[in-house]
Amino acid sequence: MFDIDSFVRDNIRKLTPYRSARDDFDSGTLLDANENSYGAPLRNSLDLHRYPSPTQDALRQKIADYRGVDLEHIFLGVGSDEPIDLLMRIFCEPGKDSILITPPTYGMYKVAANINNVAVQEVLLTEKFQLRTDEIIEEANENSKLLFLCSPNNPTANDLKRTDLLKLVAKFKGIVVVDEAYIDFSRQESMAQMVRQYPNLVVLQTFSKAFGLAGIRLGVAISNPDIINYMLRVKAPYNINKLTADTALKVFDDMELMKFNINAIKDERDYVAEQLSHSNAVTKVYPSNANFILFKIKNAKEVYRQLAERGVIVRYRGNEPLCEDCLRVTIGMPDENVKFLKALREIVG
Ligand SMILES: *Cc1c(COP(=O)(O)O)cnc(C)c1O
Repeated sequence: MFDIDSFVRDNIRKLTPYRSARDDFDSGTLLDANENSYGAPLRNSLDLHRYPSPTQDALRQKIADYRGVDLEHIFLGVGSDEPIDLLMRIFCEPGKDSILITPPTYGMYKVAANINNVAVQEVLLTEKFQLRTDEIIEEANENSKLLFLCSPNNPTANDLKRTDLLKLVAKFKGIVVVDEAYIDFSRQESMAQMVRQYPNLVVLQTFSKAFGLAGIRLGVAISNPDIINYMLRVKAPYNINKLTADTALKVFDDMELMKFNINAIKDERDYVAEQLSHSNAVTKVYPSNANFILFKIKNAKEVYRQLAERGVIVRYRGNEPLCEDCLRVTIGMPDENVKFLKALREIVG
């Protein structure tokens, strides 16, 4: 049996969490938190003079229902950045433990590890951007506490094979984090409901992409209640503010609009990919199950600069392993995509 406690840092296991005023009572004559009962000097200030809920149970329940898990499986963070950082602080002893990543992948895992003085082990993806599962298991040692897998992967845009993900969750002797920031654009099923079966699985999702709410900074970690409880103990007491929670709750009133927008983005994605593939300068368009496309183009760095001169900003990814001469373009509104394709045609012919 997998014993989560044995993977947790000693100081975290022994931690007495901070108890905030709102942990004890959240209604009544609230004279417990040194708030300003006169309110903010704003009209319609939405009770903003009160601290937000430290546990955000109403929003967690909405998300749990939507993803087919229970409230106890849900942690809310300030973007995905916060859960990524918290997982390192909970499981990785600085200067001793490590995380394992599979480049080319999202840059934030390494940044968070560097900030926490946690070493980074790397096992490259294959040429087709799939996992080398055997090499990963071989590379892992007793100090490899967290394995970060990103599916659909950024910047490559493809799904990692679900069978590989499941194999690693079963075999890796530590915590496996599957970052599903782009899952709602994918045809592949989410791993979220597998947290009932695998005690060492953490699934990360976010409101920044399919939900279109990057500005409110809301990330979601889905895992078994033991890991969620550690995350709740280590987070800042009022990490999710009221404006963020209220806005996120409102999205669930119109999921039809969200689905409509996702479908529109997917249609545009397929159109842009098709158009790119007709360009002679483009040597490869990688398949995408996300809201962006990775493609290989001659003189990528120069094309990137010239696109910027024409006011079209894409991401140069040519410095990433296996991504030589690659650009990453986000799918925009139809007119933005046309502008991108037109500018590209002007540059490369
Ligand atoms: C965009 C993105 C996120 C989301 O980050 P937030 O902090 O939630 O905005 C997470 N993971 C990957 C791979 C991403 O590309």
